[in-house]
Amino acid sequence: MNNRQLFLSHLAQTTDFPLLIEIEKAEGIYMYGPEGRKYMDLISGIGVSNVGHRHPKVIQAIQGQLDKYLHLMVYGEYVQSPQVKLAKALTDTLPAHMDNVYLVNSGSEAVEGALKLAKRYTNRREIISCVNAYHGSSHGSLSVGGNEIFKRAYRPLLPGITNIEYGNLDHLDQINEGTAAVIMETIQGEAGIRVAEKEYFQALRKRCNETGTLLILDEIQAGFGRTGRFWAFEHFDIVPDILVCAKGMGGGMPIGAFIANKELMGAFKNNPLLGHITTFGGHPVSSAASLATIDVILEGDLIGQVESKANLFKKLLVHPKIKSIRNKGLMMAVEFESFEVLKPIIDRAIEKGIITDWFLFCDDAMRIAPPLVITHAEIEIACQIILQSIEG
Ligand code: PMP
Repeated sequence: MNNRQLFLSHLAQTTDFPLLIEIEKAEGIYMYGPEGRKYMDLISGIGVSNVGHRHPKVIQAIQGQLDKYLHLMVYGEYVQSPQVKLAKALTDTLPAHMDNVYLVNSGSEAVEGALKLAKRYTNRREIISCVNAYHGSSHGSLSVGGNEIFKRAYRPLLPGITNIEYGNLDHLDQINEGTAAVIMETIQGEAGIRVAEKEYFQALRKRCNETGTLLILDEIQAGFGRTGRFWAFEHFDIVPDILVCAKGMGGGMPIGAFIANKELMGAFKNNPLLGHITTFGGHPVSSAASLATIDVILEGDLIGQVESKANLFKKLLVHPKIKSIRNKGLMMAVEFESFEVLKPIIDRAIEKGIITDWFLFCDDAMRIAPPLVITHAEIEIACQIILQSIEG
């Protein structure tokens, strides 16, 4: 059997339309398949490879850690240099009171931890989340998801969850003194890139303060420079109580975190109640990779160039079949008439070596979220090929 047959026979399938692209090597914004095939990755493995594939500094950090140690002990017991340096580097990107980091392995796990922390700290049970939100596929993170079709088969899920409409000021009065937390993607990703107004975030923060509700912002997709700021909430002049991140954090290695202030995070520490524990959370190799990733994002002008790169996509992607482009920085959705119109365009683009995708809850828009290291010249090539793929 060849690899494609093995994939279909022995690997659990998650979709009716797997991209089925085989990759042998990846570097920067490019991926290479058998028989000399070369692809430009315009989706960064779904918002992961913000610094490009196998960034040399990330590889160097991984190799350095391989020579020292791999797993030593469950999270939170031994003092491991990559973990503590990463925690410090993360808090340095945040306002001073966001000074305490819990390292996990993935986005869903970070969400689980944040929800448990909010319940534990507030001693409240109700959670508010958003229609069309995606926070993960584990039971807790799925419970705060906002798509009924995805949830139906798994009920009963967590009780006490209400979905409000992202960006709708009129729904904020549903946050009350019984609400432990509001969990929200700062920019809704899988809904097809929806961006609420600054006025909304200001009102949301105010309502949470008034009711003693914790605000959890999920920046698993929007963080690490993707939107043109290190954190997307910086666009809106607010700060969450708990920040959740993963994906781009590891530069291609699995890692996630939820971040809060020390007093809040302290709620997990008090015996005899079990807090939140993880074996592999903050794996030293992933932590070393993440530390290097943060350095790469901060040291050059990657974040500073996001806006002009996004604007170039928007300037070039003009076609009667493109209805609109929604974006915050390089988190973009190119809207078409329908899935039926879009599907063959994505397929043809792949044939021509450009990888895009659609969204979980929005199948009429093309996902564009390239590595932030993409150059203006490469964006011109990518847009030319997308336009050719629209033509047929
Ligand atoms: N939150 C958001 C906003 C996401 O985009 C994702 C992943 N697509 C998750 C949570 C879940 O992350 P993971 O797949 O690492 O569990």
